[in-house]
Amino acid sequence: MKTILVTGGAGFLGSHLCDELLSHGHRVLCLDNLSTGSLKNIEHNLGDDDFQFLNHDIVDPIKLPPSFQDLDQIYNLACPASPVHYQSDPIKTTKTCVHGAINVLDLGLETGAVVFQASTSEVYGDPAQHPQPESYWGNVNTIGPRSCYDEGKRTAESLFFDYHRFHGVPIKVVRIFNTYGPRMAHDDGRVVSNFIVQALKNKDITLYGNGSQTRSFCYVDDLISGFIAMMDTPETVIGPVNLGNPGEFNMNELATAVIELTGSDSELLYCELPKDDPKMRKPDITKATNLLGWQPKIKLQIGLAKAIEHFRKELGLDGLEDQPEEYAKQVDNVMDIANAN
Ligand code: NAD
Ligand code: UDP
Repeated sequence: MKTILVTGGAGFLGSHLCDELLSHGHRVLCLDNLSTGSLKNIEHNLGDDDFQFLNHDIVDPIKLPPSFQDLDQIYNLACPASPVHYQSDPIKTTKTCVHGAINVLDLGLETGAVVFQASTSEVYGDPAQHPQPESYWGNVNTIGPRSCYDEGKRTAESLFFDYHRFHGVPIKVVRIFNTYGPRMAHDDGRVVSNFIVQALKNKDITLYGNGSQTRSFCYVDDLISGFIAMMDTPETVIGPVNLGNPGEFNMNELATAVIELTGSDSELLYCELPKDDPKMRKPDITKATNLLGWQPKIKLQIGLAKAIEHFRKELGLDGLEDQPEEYAKQVDNVMDIANAN
């Protein structure tokens, strides 16, 4: 049994990570300022003696509660991840990335805990190399609207490596590629949640630009198993390691899949492309495969079907007997496809 701090633990990825760590018998301190996360994501754990929630902003130094003094591991996930959210208060985003990294690394120095950083494919910016291996240094506009996040995460990576080199803090750095699944907030603003919610409401699907830009989508369960595999590596394995699903789709293909899976009557609405939106993204996961023996298992269609079921419940569309005919048809579609795979 280990004692583990998860920052950003009430968010989408963080709450799944807390569940997984608790299921392995660990004690979990979940730190979050609830800016984009929600108590709803962790409420099922609040009565558990092995779980404690700490409402705290990672920008400020962390004071551990008495029962969580002897930390073994720290997972640093606290940071808004949706472009809509991280651009709404960009200076705070940079502080969260940079001061947050310093605060968790100082805590690692003080306690001897291994410190894990949730870095991102955004460190590659609008990549000129495709797919992206960890050796690629990236193409980031330092003064654009995405740079608060991209440069914040890049600085966090340099802090992790400097604390490791200068102070010997044990670190693990992973670069996460677009991940989706249950507990994404329905108003999160990222593409998978936007498309599913729009399709379920039969509203226009908002495609930015001409929809030809690509992303590679990883289902949350696959990603979390990659986190744990990385944390379990010997001390010499520090990363960075890409974690993501190499299946690459353009946004037109994603919209079509979501419409098909939901049986929606939504139409496609082409909107302005946000500035500096990366044209393509796909992880080279050779390193993860060799070092961690890790590969994602869940196909996009199956993962989308699971996410659709989550959002259907979130939107109060569950309970087939009370639903209009068309929703019953949509569930059938989703389940047929899920069962066929
Ligand atoms: P999320 O927005 O659901 O979760 C982030 C959590 O951090 C939220 O609970 C939020 O309240 C909390 N938080 C934000 N700022 C904070 C602060 N200053 N102090 C304390 N808590 C704070 O997003 P997510 O998708 O779960 O992302 C989690 C981490 O993974 C982030 O660091 C993100 O950069 C990284 N990541 C995610 C993806 C992805 O596709 N989901 C891709 C790359 C990187
Ligand atoms: N996107 C879109 N419609 C939306 C939201 C996003 O077409 O409603 C596009 C966005 O322009 C980007 C891709 O989908 O090219 C992924 O966007 P997201 O915000 O999910 O993550 P990013 O990879 O850009 O950080």
